[in-house]
Amino acid sequence: MALKKKKLVIGNWKMNIFTTKEAEKLVAGIKKESLKTKNTDIVVAPPFVYLASLKGLVSKKVSLGAQNIFEETAGSYTGEVSAQHLTQFKVSYVIIGHSERRARGESDASISKKIVRALEHKITPVLCIGESVHDDHGEYLDFIKSQLASGLSGVSKMQISDVVIAYEPIWAIGAKEAMNSNQVHEMSLYIQKCIKEMYGAMVMMPRILYGGAVNADNAREIVDRGYVDGLLVGRESLKVENFVGIIKNVDLIK
Ligand code: PEP
Repeated sequence: MALKKKKLVIGNWKMNIFTTKEAEKLVAGIKKESLKTKNTDIVVAPPFVYLASLKGLVSKKVSLGAQNIFEETAGSYTGEVSAQHLTQFKVSYVIIGHSERRARGESDASISKKIVRALEHKITPVLCIGESVHDDHGEYLDFIKSQLASGLSGVSKMQISDVVIAYEPIWAIGAKEAMNSNQVHEMSLYIQKCIKEMYGAMVMMPRILYGGAVNADNAREIVDRGYVDGLLVGRESLKVENFVGIIKNVDLIK
């Protein structure tokens, strides 16, 4: 019998939290308050500058993520950080192609290279995809399909289950309301269909997450009724009680 995959909840701190002490306190608090959870993998993705100090706090349950990497491994690329740098800090996940980066010019070609670099260094890439408008004609479906095709263009059938797909409709990011769980379910099914078209019906599915205005009140419904494997959380990952509230509610799902 195939092992049931654990749920995954990732907190993307973005460009927040401004002292090492605060970063350590946040991770220590998350670890302490989530001690009793059993079915959920937890990831915190702080700014790069905290990785060295947070490395000592990672555990089997709480892993470290990064918010980006550069598309090459080494060389004359002033200001960039590569997957190779991250391996020494026990970084297990890296968010790639977040809409905030795409909006600032990150291209599909660069995103696809970053996914390959992460896999080469045994870091799980979290490929972010999502439409800006959920239009009535369903044009967003082709958009999602093309983001998947280009983001995964360097990923083989053997590797696809080592990737995480984070579906984040841009209109829900930073918004008041999340997408409703029926729509999340439709999108999760559609993403699975696209992956089967790309890799064949017998493919081992990657974990699919939802992101956009998730909080402790809506987390369980989105994961349970949206049939996703977890959540990518922005604002609500910056306070222990809010983030752990989400984790505990997801962890209740059978
Ligand atoms: C995000 O930016 O990936 C995100 C999901 O943000 P928020 O949870 O704040 O909507």
